[in-house]
Amino acid sequence: MALAQEAAQPVAALGAAKLQEVIVTETTPAPIPDYTPAQLELDGFHCPHSTCGVFSRQRWFRSARFFQTQNLAGPDYSEARFSFAVCDRCGDVSIWRDAKIIFPSYSPAPRPHRNTPPEILTDVKEARDIVTASPRGAAALLRLAAEKLASSLVEKCGRPQGKDLNDNIRILVEEGLPRSIQQALDALRVIGNEAVHPGVLDLKDDQDTALKLFRLVNVIIENRIAEPTEIESLYVSKVPDSKKEQIGKRDATA
Ligand SMILES: [Zn+2]
Repeated sequence: MALAQEAAQPVAALGAAKLQEVIVTETTPAPIPDYTPAQLELDGFHCPHSTCGVFSRQRWFRSARFFQTQNLAGPDYSEARFSFAVCDRCGDVSIWRDAKIIFPSYSPAPRPHRNTPPEILTDVKEARDIVTASPRGAAALLRLAAEKLASSLVEKCGRPQGKDLNDNIRILVEEGLPRSIQQALDALRVIGNEAVHPGVLDLKDDQDTALKLFRLVNVIIENRIAEPTEIESLYVSKVPDSKKEQIGKRDATA
């Protein structure tokens, strides 16, 4: 907020360092926010309710009344095992037994990016469903999603398909793929392979690594699909045709 106000001031009123900060703030695309999975007794996380889903404060409590009204008894329903968290944003309650969320049905993995292509959406959704029970299975499915993504990106460049994912990443690097995206694709490739044919890594109980792979898929989609689509749509709809013609001539003579 302070920076936005300062940006409206005359340039001379700003120090050079502050000006640089304003420029960076205004021109750097917003990063994908970090994702905080729901966790017992954490006072803030991304809401597990599908209608909410945003990061919000959570208020924890235990309720003897709940057990009385539900007429529940016995060791499985011992009050000490249950906790409840109320989301500050939507007001809905999540129910926990020991350290595990039992309502609503929940995956700790980030949701798929809104621009996830339909051909990989099923893989990512299935990976979310199984990541708690099988981080290895989730990593293998996300590797499959990376393979399909890389293949469609190669097709978009008008290049023939490589013989496998490794080869397609090489082709994309030749086409100017940013280094961070190459590394994200290679991480999905290598870790996904290790999940299927364990070698150096053992992903059996490594849910944390599997959860990070979901984020990598979203980062690739943001960088390679969402951002270019948004920029192109702005260019096509807002830059006047006469200016586009000038730009075309400029680049033809460059
Ligand atoms: Zn909520």
